Amino acid sequence: MNKKKYIIGILIAVIVIGIAVAAIIKTPLFKKEKTAEEKLLEKPGKTLLYFSPHQDDEMLTEGIDIAVSIENGYDVHVILCTDGSICNVKEKLNNGKHCKSCNTDHNYIVTTEEFIQSRDSEFIGSCLALGVKRENINIEETRMVDGSETVEGTKEIIKKYLELFGKNCTVCAVFPNDPEVQHRDHNALGLAATELKDEGVIKNLYLFEEPYNLEKVSRGDREEPNIYYASDEIMTKLQKAVDEYHKWDSENGRYAVGYHSAGERMENVLSEKALYYHIYE
Ligand SMILES: [Zn+2]
Ligand SMILES: [Zn+2]
Repeated sequence: MNKKKYIIGILIAVIVIGIAVAAIIKTPLFKKEKTAEEKLLEKPGKTLLYFSPHQDDEMLTEGIDIAVSIENGYDVHVILCTDGSICNVKEKLNNGKHCKSCNTDHNYIVTTEEFIQSRDSEFIGSCLALGVKRENINIEETRMVDGSETVEGTKEIIKKYLELFGKNCTVCAVFPNDPEVQHRDHNALGLAATELKDEGVIKNLYLFEEPYNLEKVSRGDREEPNIYYASDEIMTKLQKAVDEYHKWDSENGRYAVGYHSAGERMENVLSEKALYYHIYE
C-alpha cells in the first residue's frame, strides 16, 4: 500500500514539474526571438496593404514580397497612390526619333489621359501576374499627380484603406531613404507610413528599399536593409509582371511605358532575385 502511494506521489511530482517547466519555457524570457526572415514571412494578421507610388514600384520594389505573401495565403491588396503622368516616356513616344528599345521611330500622339491609361493597364497586368486578385487592385480615386505626392495626402490614402480593412491590417510601403537620391513621391510615402506608425494609426509596418538606389543613397542614421532571396517559382511570377510592362500594342493603347522608363531596373530585379526590407517596430 505504501509503495503504491509512493509511486502515485512520484507521478504527481513528475506531472507538476513538467507543467512548471512547460510554463517557464513559454514565458517571453525563454521564447526564441523570431529572425527578420521569419518576421517577413509570418506577418501579423491576414490582410496586407501594399502602397505603390507609381505604376512599376509594386513590381520593382515590392514585387517579390507581394508574390511570396500571396503564395503564403495572405489576402493581398495593392493601392496605387499617383497617376504616373509625369514621365519622359510620354515625350519619347511622339518625338519622331529612333527608339533604341524598340528599334523603330516613334510618332505616336498620346494624350495625358491615354498615357495614364496605358500605365494603369501595365500596373493591373503586373499585379495580376504577381497573383493579386482583380478586385484587390486599387487605383485610388484620390491619387495625386505624379511628382507631387505629399506626406499629408498619402496619410489620408493610407488611413482610408485602414478604415476599410481594419486597423489590424499590415501596411507595406517604400522605405523613406535619402531624399537627395530617392524620388520625392517614394519619400513622401515612406514618411507618411512611418509617421502613422509612430502615431499608432498603423499597427504593423514593413518597408522596402528600391534595389536600384542601394548603392547611391548616403545612409546616415538609416539602418541597412535585410535581404531576402526569392525562389525560382516566385521569380517566374516576377518575369510575367515584367512582361506586362513590355507589352506593345499601340492600336489598343499599350506602349510599354514601364519598359521604356525602367527596363534595365526590371532586368536587374530578375537577375538579382533580391528583396530589401525593414521591419519598422
Ligand atoms: Zn516610382
Ligand atoms: Zn520605344
